[in-house]
Amino acid sequence: MSKVSIVDFVRDIYQTNDFIPMHAPTFNGNEQKYVLETIQSTFVSSVGKFVDEFEQKIETYTGTAKAVATVNGTAALHAALYMAGVRAGDLVITQALTFVATCNALHHMGAEPIFVDVSPVSLGLCPKAMDEFLIQHAQVTDNGCIHKQTKRRIRAVVPMHTFGHPVELDELIAVCHKWNITLVEDAAESLGSFYKGKHTGTLGDFGAVSFNGNKIITTGGGGMVLCKTAELGAHTKHVTTTAKVPHPYEFFHDEAGFNYRMPNLNAALGCAQMEVLELYLAQKRVLANRYQAFFENSDFQFVTEPDYAQSNYWLNAVICPSVAARDELLTQTNDAGVMTRPIWKLMHRLPMFKDALRGDLTQSEHIEAHLINLPSSPIAL
Ligand SMILES: *Cc1c(COP(=O)(O)O)cnc(C)c1O
Repeated sequence: MSKVSIVDFVRDIYQTNDFIPMHAPTFNGNEQKYVLETIQSTFVSSVGKFVDEFEQKIETYTGTAKAVATVNGTAALHAALYMAGVRAGDLVITQALTFVATCNALHHMGAEPIFVDVSPVSLGLCPKAMDEFLIQHAQVTDNGCIHKQTKRRIRAVVPMHTFGHPVELDELIAVCHKWNITLVEDAAESLGSFYKGKHTGTLGDFGAVSFNGNKIITTGGGGMVLCKTAELGAHTKHVTTTAKVPHPYEFFHDEAGFNYRMPNLNAALGCAQMEVLELYLAQKRVLANRYQAFFENSDFQFVTEPDYAQSNYWLNAVICPSVAARDELLTQTNDAGVMTRPIWKLMHRLPMFKDALRGDLTQSEHIEAHLINLPSSPIAL
């Protein structure tokens, strides 16, 4: 590791003596102009041109067949799981190493998670770990993939592209085909991340993106469902907007829908933020390269993008050589006003998921005990 302390190193990057947060939003483009325009037009809510425009921008950028804007990323995940056919009583495979929203979304549909281990390459769901769990515990029947012990259907898998690093999707898709399981990608953290040239969230049947205030770009609060086909997209739009059958004045709703539509006010912010996404990606890549150089030749291992992928480097991360070294780094930085933090507690340690089915979680436990996130806001170039 460089002779310079991590605190001085980060302060030099951000050129400030003030508190340095984990990830702060910046609005130096057309944000004020577009938001003001929605206020002046009075179309701040469920009708307005910015929602359509924002969805189109995301479609063009990601290459998805249809993007559907939602109130937040958790709502996008909920709608995606609903559209994937997940219903009460189903089991859904996911990571124990994730942000709680992944599990909350499926929990509130009456489904339950199965936790499998993550890959040390991606920090996301490991296809081999999933296959091994299924070989031990599942069987494919005429009614889909059944968990033998509980007789419940394993309907879907939700890998999460941790900190923007894409999971091993080709291998995962092969496991999904083998076991007849639907793939829904939690791409909340990975706008701007590509797997072998394809945008994350577009390889599964559905993907969910978040535009929360701490994500790479923000709409204040917001999310997007990426849909594999135009038909699925049309149905997703319908069901996230109360499932109202279009009519000049009559109210008829043909299924139990959600009110998950993104307000036009938020979409205006999103349209402006899409204009600076490429710049942020470039800035974050430079920042990641600087961290990587800083930790080179040390026993701290900086997390880099997998070689099959191009990551957005949403949150930079380093694996510490020991728990003591991690705690020392956490204290040293936070005491000096430079925010760092450990990764999330594994999901099966939370009271509501403590009884969930799970496979071996050795990698997840190692990462949980050793990983630290570093300040990751885009830097001036
Ligand atoms: C941010 C995030 C979400 C949810 O996004 P919200 O917009 O905050 O609801 C879901 N999953 C993961 C992994 C996230 O990081």
